[in-house]
Amino acid sequence: MPPIEIPLLADHHSHPLLYATLQQAVDLSDVTELDDACDLLQQSADRQAGLTVAHGWKDNRFEIPESRLQQLPPVAIFNVSLHQLLINATGQSLLSAQYGEVINRVNDRRWYESHLPTVLNWFANLAGSAEILVQFYDQLEGLGVWSAEEMLLVDEREIDWFREADLLLRTTFWAAPGTFANLSAAGQKQVHGLKFFTDGAIGARSAAIQHAYQAGSQTGKNHGMLIHTDHQLQCQLTQAAESHKAIAIHAIGDRAIEQAITQLEGIGPLIDHFPEIRLEHVQLINLEQACRAKRQGIVLSMQPNFNSDSVNYGDRLPDGYAERNNPFRMLIDKAGFVPGVDLILGSDGMPHGAAFALQQSLYPPIENQRLSLSEFLAGYGSNSDKVFRVDIESPG
Ligand SMILES: [Zn+2]
Repeated sequence: MPPIEIPLLADHHSHPLLYATLQQAVDLSDVTELDDACDLLQQSADRQAGLTVAHGWKDNRFEIPESRLQQLPPVAIFNVSLHQLLINATGQSLLSAQYGEVINRVNDRRWYESHLPTVLNWFANLAGSAEILVQFYDQLEGLGVWSAEEMLLVDEREIDWFREADLLLRTTFWAAPGTFANLSAAGQKQVHGLKFFTDGAIGARSAAIQHAYQAGSQTGKNHGMLIHTDHQLQCQLTQAAESHKAIAIHAIGDRAIEQAITQLEGIGPLIDHFPEIRLEHVQLINLEQACRAKRQGIVLSMQPNFNSDSVNYGDRLPDGYAERNNPFRMLIDKAGFVPGVDLILGSDGMPHGAAFALQQSLYPPIENQRLSLSEFLAGYGSNSDKVFRVDIESPG
């Protein structure tokens, strides 16, 4: 198949500063064996003292037993979804020198999920600068991406780094409510919207779903986790309405999506205070929920690259769920969502770039996930007039 020419994309969901800093970290995304991962971590620690940070670990390929983790030099290892983090005792003591005793709580899964913005920001802070942002956006351009929205602003310094790097026009800032509250008036003005989380992720078995995950390392029935009670979420939304900012709500599992839509329906006329309401990911949305979201004028912000979760996480999703992941055809053909209008696309950095996302869109593992090239481009629409050539393999 000849290369396809496309305009550079606007990635509507990323974490540029975090990923720019993780690029200095050990990449485990191609590693399939525990021994190889441990070798890589050891080699990195031999080159550079201090904390070794790694990302891209896929626990459907290998587990990291506690005993091996503790034998390693000081390490912090992110699961590919970022919704799971292992830090060994020596790593924790290095980090607690900077961030305090709170570090000891990262191994508590519930604490971790509900403090994810804080934890990700520790790491984004470790090595942030205008310079690494410039490098990172150069790399994005090389992958066919012009702009990348920052879904989790670290703090005011990040805005300064973007300004210094002359990259303000190539991002949009979203901030957790706590981060937003701590910004100066000028900083708050730069922020487009507030970001909320309602659940975790499929990879970490923490996306909140109606049926139980298939048995894994956890014992007992696991339906994932809702981060807030209905009442807590309702209060947060009511409070957020005062800011008159856009909001983006992370909701992956059908149970989390149900909660998000129901609580949005529950705030009544306050809903008009939000210039824009986005639901992020909505991988396991059903038709009934989609129609309610459509009625509320909600924008769905989704990631075609997560089509592959249907294959990668068949081991943990309950029966029938893999087939329901990322139901783009249902959303467009039955619920009436329009790519580029109320269905927008991004990568969440897993991975960044046009190639994998387009491959997964044109040749998805599940027929209901298929997008046409024009739907893909509309959902990823950027205002860049630069052109990118992307190679796609047509299977079979
Ligand atoms: Zn994200």
